[in-house]
Amino acid sequence: MIDLHTHSTCSDGTLEPEELVERAKKNGVEAMALTDHDTFDGIKRARKKAEELGIEFICGIEFSTDYDGKDIHVLGYFIDENNPKVNSKLKELKKEREERTYKIIEKLNQLKLKLTIEEVMEEVTGDLISRTHIASAMMKKGYVYRRSEAFNQYLGMRGRAYFPKEGLKTVDAVKMIREAGGFSSLAHPKLIPYGHEKMLQLIDELKENGLDALEIYYPNFSLKDIAYYKRIAEERDLLFTGGSDFHGLNREGIDVACSGIDKELFQKIKNKHFKGKV
Ligand code: AMP
Ligand code: MN
Ligand code: MN
Ligand code: MN
Repeated sequence: MIDLHTHSTCSDGTLEPEELVERAKKNGVEAMALTDHDTFDGIKRARKKAEELGIEFICGIEFSTDYDGKDIHVLGYFIDENNPKVNSKLKELKKEREERTYKIIEKLNQLKLKLTIEEVMEEVTGDLISRTHIASAMMKKGYVYRRSEAFNQYLGMRGRAYFPKEGLKTVDAVKMIREAGGFSSLAHPKLIPYGHEKMLQLIDELKENGLDALEIYYPNFSLKDIAYYKRIAEERDLLFTGGSDFHGLNREGIDVACSGIDKELFQKIKNKHFKGKV
């Protein structure tokens, strides 16, 4: 019962970091990582609660990166949340998110969907704006019934109000994690809109730049999917990670630890990571 992929109110989840850890405890979790998008804001609070409840806690983060115009997520583990270089990049990325929000709102307004920055900010629970919050504001105004509709029609890669974030390239995220002494994993590879060849190309390029693992245990990945990515990983001497991608009420039907990894794999990750380090 180990969950290496969760979100709190510090990015686009609906549970506070402490509440998230409490829920993990209730679900029998023995070790976990908080992996908010582009922020370490919740780490200290989650760690404190995890210590209280006797859960092993890993500092994590999920970087939103750009690869050829595609939105690709890279998980970083075991980074010191006070690392100055990483934090200065995170500051930039937060600013880019703000600027993007204004562009999206402007585009939605042009499409005759009236939305203000105040209405979006009302949905924001931490220090960072995500499209999840814009989708919530759109639902509240009755422009869409479902979150998926907001993404499919407007906010997603093929949506009419899509604006990419280009502030962090995928390769640079992997390098930055390595330089910061972290362990990187390519998040939910099945959600990347690439066929076999392009996927291998991406993974090979990331591996060359220090990628450590692929996230192969993820909600709704079939046994076939898992076997497919496991094989790709094994052929490249990459490890595997896994988790629930829990977002509280912002992702229906997903609970903490509904997907994850076992102790044996967790030990392998730690062995690979700490090998050769004091
Ligand atoms: P952002 O961090 O602003 O790029 O927004 C990305 C977030 O939006 C993801 O982390 C998901 O939580 C959410 N998201 C992306 N696509 C969808 C979708 N099709 N349906 C619901 N939520 C989505
Ligand atoms: Mn999210
Ligand atoms: Mn993701
Ligand atoms: Mn995630």
